[in-house]
Amino acid sequence: MTAATDDPPRPRALSGKERYIKGAVLGEGTFGVVTKAEDTLTRRHVAIKKIRLGKYKEGVNFTAIREIKLLMELRHPHVIELVDVFPHKRNLNLVFEMCESDLEAVVKDKFLPLGTPEVKSYVKMTLEAVAYCHASWVLHRDLKPNNLLIAPNGALKLADFGLARVFGSPNRRFTHQVFARWYRAPELLLGSKAYGPGVDMWAIGCVFAELMLRKPYFPGSSDIDQLGRIYAGLGTPTEENWPGHKNMPDYVEFSHGVAPPLRQLFTTAPPEALDLLQKLLAFDPNKRLSAADALKHAYFSSRPFATPFPDLPRPTQKFGDDGGGGGDDAGRGTSGLMPPPDSVHGGDAKRARTAPRAGDAAHFAAADRDESPATEPHRDRDRDRNRGEFDGGRRIGGGDRDTDERADGGAPMSTSGGGHGTDAMGQLGLDSCDRPALSTVDRAYLRKRKHDLDVAFLAASQEGSEEQGGG
Ligand code: AMP
Repeated sequence: MTAATDDPPRPRALSGKERYIKGAVLGEGTFGVVTKAEDTLTRRHVAIKKIRLGKYKEGVNFTAIREIKLLMELRHPHVIELVDVFPHKRNLNLVFEMCESDLEAVVKDKFLPLGTPEVKSYVKMTLEAVAYCHASWVLHRDLKPNNLLIAPNGALKLADFGLARVFGSPNRRFTHQVFARWYRAPELLLGSKAYGPGVDMWAIGCVFAELMLRKPYFPGSSDIDQLGRIYAGLGTPTEENWPGHKNMPDYVEFSHGVAPPLRQLFTTAPPEALDLLQKLLAFDPNKRLSAADALKHAYFSSRPFATPFPDLPRPTQKFGDDGGGGGDDAGRGTSGLMPPPDSVHGGDAKRARTAPRAGDAAHFAAADRDESPATEPHRDRDRDRNRGEFDGGRRIGGGDRDTDERADGGAPMSTSGGGHGTDAMGQLGLDSCDRPALSTVDRAYLRKRKHDLDVAFLAASQEGSEEQGGG
């Protein structure tokens, strides 16, 4: 025998698909299935997001390119790691570090204690990730609980950079159709295209509130309803606290409303928590706390301290536990708590919580129908379902995503296990009919807005191609 044949077989250089042994489906997002896999090079478990590229004539999927481009440059303990990218057939495969669940599962798991040390820990990790992104001139633009993943070691990982953008060039204008509606800052709702890191900070404020309340703070069923809920919770903005807001492109006049004390809703939260929340939810983006400054807030240096992430309790529901067929959509179904805010997509809850992409115009157009003066034929039929319709400029009855939570006629999501909230949301007009109403219901405005939204979807899809083309 020759020496060569005595040598142990050399390991094949694994590349692309051959490197991974695929396992169960973990979930499904807007662009394709996410599957668990083992990386044969490192023996690590990974999550492979398969993105359908479609036919060549449909062009490049800019969301995927954007996610890859930005994530390849970002490295942080609380930002999801993009391990590898490889093409296979007509798909692009994005290999991520594997996570077990997300913050939405944490919020909804009623057996999971969520007191100040735990909330502090999640908010701190989120702020650290976002402070890093902002220092790297990246806006995430889709912050929400189900984009904050939980790794097997308990660490929070900011994920889904499909809507993320580089910012910092003066005079650059972006689309305002970003973020899931419930986490959308007021300047976006009023049509601003010249926004900055404040939009991510507002969303963090909403997530912070949601962790304390164990339910979404502002679960609007349309853009106007979203503003109404924000104004019910925080009062209507004034020239003093938000100079110039009346000149914003989509400004609508609401009847004046004064903010109820936050303490009324967040009954057991420490005072530092409410101070931080208020500063994250400042109307004027220029006055909103930055992520770096938020991390210096007394909330984090006061007792009780944040729980170290390895000690955080883990949600019982893990990705793929439902067989993976529907991702967090199915998870939502299982817990039975959160039907999508806009059900046009027929149960695609993940999509419903994400800013609509090109071609999703019907989604908003239909949702916005609920804002218009109550003349549509479907009005009476849908009244019970769609809380917050207008009747001559005044809100009436209704229900949206919370309907299931309150189907028993009573309390919203349990605050057991350490939640800081009460069911005062209804009393404060955040849940129901007492929100400030549009003082001028302008049909022409609403009609125009629907058209604007169609245009916005087109713009959102072209934003990527322009960016690629224009550098
Ligand atoms: P996405 O396309 O990013 O919205 O992800 C869709 C679904 O896939 C999520 O809701 C999760 O169920 C699952 N998923 C995404 N990324 C990961 C990951 N890194 N680890 C485990 N599961 C993931």
